[in-house]
Amino acid sequence: MAGIYLHIPFCKHKCTYCDFTSFPNRLNFAEAYMACLYKEIEMRGKELKDKTFDTVYFGGGTPSVIDPDYIYGAMKKIKQCLNLSKRPEITIEMNPGTVSAEKIAIYKRAGVNRFSIGLQTAIDEQLENLGRIHNVRDYLFCTSLLKGENFSTDIMLGLKGQSKEDVRKTVEIAAGSSAKHISMYALTPEDGTPIYTDYLNGELPEADEVAELYDYGRALLSEKGYERYEVSNFAKKGFESKHNLNYWRRGEYIGFGISASSFMNGRRFTNTLNLDEYIKCILSGFLPVIDNAPVEGDDAKFEFLMLALRTCEGVSAEKYRTAFGSDWKEDFEGAYRKTKEFLEEDGDTTRLKDEYLYVQNGILTEYMN
Ligand code: SF4
Repeated sequence: MAGIYLHIPFCKHKCTYCDFTSFPNRLNFAEAYMACLYKEIEMRGKELKDKTFDTVYFGGGTPSVIDPDYIYGAMKKIKQCLNLSKRPEITIEMNPGTVSAEKIAIYKRAGVNRFSIGLQTAIDEQLENLGRIHNVRDYLFCTSLLKGENFSTDIMLGLKGQSKEDVRKTVEIAAGSSAKHISMYALTPEDGTPIYTDYLNGELPEADEVAELYDYGRALLSEKGYERYEVSNFAKKGFESKHNLNYWRRGEYIGFGISASSFMNGRRFTNTLNLDEYIKCILSGFLPVIDNAPVEGDDAKFEFLMLALRTCEGVSAEKYRTAFGSDWKEDFEGAYRKTKEFLEEDGDTTRLKDEYLYVQNGILTEYMN
């Protein structure tokens, strides 16, 4: 499997927790930026002519903030320059404050068949605190336009003043809107973002309180028929995100646009994070890559394990052997011994026990040495 990621870095407003590459004041650059994005797809076309891509993902930023014809144009360019499989999964991220029936109709004409919507919380006061431009009513309007479609809803934990009751209400609204997939993330207060001040002032829930909210949310999601398949991702049967599964299975992907990263032919590379530099590079006929390095040896093995252990699929000894020609338990003998109590074995497969998935980062550090 292989995927395509396109980064649309524009937003209406910067959220208080956001440290993504996104610009709230530069929508006037959308035309120039999208022209460069199309050019970048063309520039990569030749070297990717032997690959077939199974997924396309428009992420951001807020892809739904720009004119939907740009999304249509990007899909047209992809179809001209790259090979898509017969029935690719094509996802667009949408902010509920930026949607309309017309936009959705154009996305669908472009081939989009999966929508990812940032609800975050069903408590308006918390949305305001996050600096989101939408309220719960906007989310309900947005999902009413997506009746019968395959869509995913993002929800966040660890918000200021968030109670179990708030989580219950949020899960109820997300599930009640017929989302086929729900991502439930813990807020990470990044240094330099406005919400970091709340964190320093002790106004955000402590890690163990967030873990409790997570357990509570997980149980509710399970009751409503969402099966967890990765630490933060839950889906109705058959509606797992193919695009994200490809990342965790260490599949190849190509990223277009600023800050987009790629993994191709054993190398990881990243585009510049600077909008002006991106445009200048493309207009001068250069790819805007700033980092490009092979992932080999122990790094590749660690990456394989780290990604696989995030998922409920776990590590397949056979797949590891096929990739690296060795036994993972021998390669990581010390770490395996130390973490054995957190793992469960099922034939050829080893996975983290359900109750330890949420704290996997701490466990996986053992494998770094
Ligand atoms: S909508 Fe998303 S990308 Fe844009 S500012 Fe908010 S969190 Fe960041």
